[in-house]
Amino acid sequence: MNRKYRKTIIAGNWKMYKTATEAKAFVEQLKSSLPRAKRCSIVLCVPYVDLPAAGKLLKDSRIAVGAQNLHWEEQGPFTGEISANMLADLDVKYVIIGHSERRGLFYESDLTVNKKIHAALNAGLRPILCVGEDLDQRRLGVTMELITYQIHAALAGVTPEQMRHVVIAYEPIWAIGTGNTATPEQAGEVCSAIRGILRKLYGARIARSTTIQYGGSMNEKNAAELLAQEDVDGGLIGTASLDPDTFLKIIQIANQD
Ligand code: PEP
Repeated sequence: MNRKYRKTIIAGNWKMYKTATEAKAFVEQLKSSLPRAKRCSIVLCVPYVDLPAAGKLLKDSRIAVGAQNLHWEEQGPFTGEISANMLADLDVKYVIIGHSERRGLFYESDLTVNKKIHAALNAGLRPILCVGEDLDQRRLGVTMELITYQIHAALAGVTPEQMRHVVIAYEPIWAIGTGNTATPEQAGEVCSAIRGILRKLYGARIARSTTIQYGGSMNEKNAAELLAQEDVDGGLIGTASLDPDTFLKIIQIANQD
């Protein structure tokens, strides 16, 4: 982390877990036990159907609400889809885009990831852009090439002004939901390389101020080491965000001086 230049963001990704009733109970518990210090921003990316309840409970709180996906068109005959404007209307502030589960299980391409980034930015949402390699790509030694490509493709046409609203999450696929966390050095190395890519694309100032999270089995035991890396500015957290006590512990770690 480097709080001098950029925001530290701890974001939970609930995936397809928690009903609206369960979400309410979680949010109430978390809200009542947050640390006083506000050294990190907190985001909860909840299932679509939990957004109204979470939005209502978190209005005027320091926890921002996020979604996990959107459709790139403003409206139209796209059964089952949700637009960026619909999310913004529910006071959603962040949206995860290009999560590896969406890329892998729902065949999301780099082209649609790019369209979604633009849709989010045009609606005033902050995209959390996920990039990351699978195990074969890591073993083959092409991690940096893949990530360079993913970032160039996802951010095509994004202006320097818009880039100030983009968060990037480095999420090695082999670490997601597996318990095989990247070592702090692996996470730090790729996050630092991502900052280097941003420097080439957008210049030193924007690169220095962009929040780059790590995601992949981050939990209350490994968060401190991961966040100690200069270029790891927070976490995108799946499993460990489902329990309010565990998530709170990670927030407390990110809040430490
Ligand atoms: C994720 O889904 O973005 C994620 C990082 O999950 P987990 O923390 O469970 O690996």
